[in-house]
Amino acid sequence: MIVEEIGLDSSSRIAFQSHAHSDHFVSGKVIFATRATKFLSHLRKGGFYREVGFRKKFYIGDIKAKLYPAGHMLGSAGIKLWLENGTLFYTGDTKWFKLRTAEKSRFPRADFLIIEATFGVPSFTFPAPREAEKKLVAFVEEALDRGRRPTLYVNQMGKAQEVMKILDVHGITVKPSREILKIAKVYSKFGIKFGNIDNEGEVVLRSYRSPRVENSLSPWELIVSGFGGLKLSNHADFWELMRIVEKVKPERIFTVYGFAREFARILNGLGHNAIDISPKQKINL
Ligand SMILES: [Zn+2]
Repeated sequence: MIVEEIGLDSSSRIAFQSHAHSDHFVSGKVIFATRATKFLSHLRKGGFYREVGFRKKFYIGDIKAKLYPAGHMLGSAGIKLWLENGTLFYTGDTKWFKLRTAEKSRFPRADFLIIEATFGVPSFTFPAPREAEKKLVAFVEEALDRGRRPTLYVNQMGKAQEVMKILDVHGITVKPSREILKIAKVYSKFGIKFGNIDNEGEVVLRSYRSPRVENSLSPWELIVSGFGGLKLSNHADFWELMRIVEKVKPERIFTVYGFAREFARILNGLGHNAIDISPKQKINL
């Protein structure tokens, strides 16, 4: 969407890109993003990125702005804008709980909040990351005990590296796909190292965009996704989204992505002032 001529994960002459997932790619004359988002995006696309650090004040024209870690993947950020009518915080994709390979998220106070609602209904309740992690390791260890080589299907950017790190911590080696490995190399430039990469790795890591279909998985294959078999998600579940709303304490809330309509309805039922803006391109505050 576009606010005051600034594209928030939307293409515009001046744009902000919250993170390096391709559904958030933008084009523009200048794209504000973190250094990690720039590096990771450049694996797939060009564009002039202006690097901004977390919690450093900067200006877009005469609008003051600051980035805060979003916790969704390495370099992911939300942005706070000081607008004439009040402050606005846009979350991008976000996660309340700390993941191993993403910066711990922070949420500032703001008058207006634009919040993602990918999992914005209460039926999406994820285990805490450390609980999901235990299940993942148990699945892998059981397969290994039975002499099998498990395959994990993951989003190749972000989730794959999180899973690699978890397995690394537990002393399990992985054979990642070429694309996953390329992205992991960028992660290691930012201090997130993987000591367990091996062509003969005990676990195979593949993008879930691989040709295999979901319902033909063997018992030793697993989809690691909020929508999949093992709910190790890098998105906030419904309850995490509610915590974010409570932290930001906004007067007005705008919901985007996923269950935006349902999430806005629930928020209004709880006494908030919320509106689903996913069908719209421009917002006037
Ligand atoms: Zn994302």
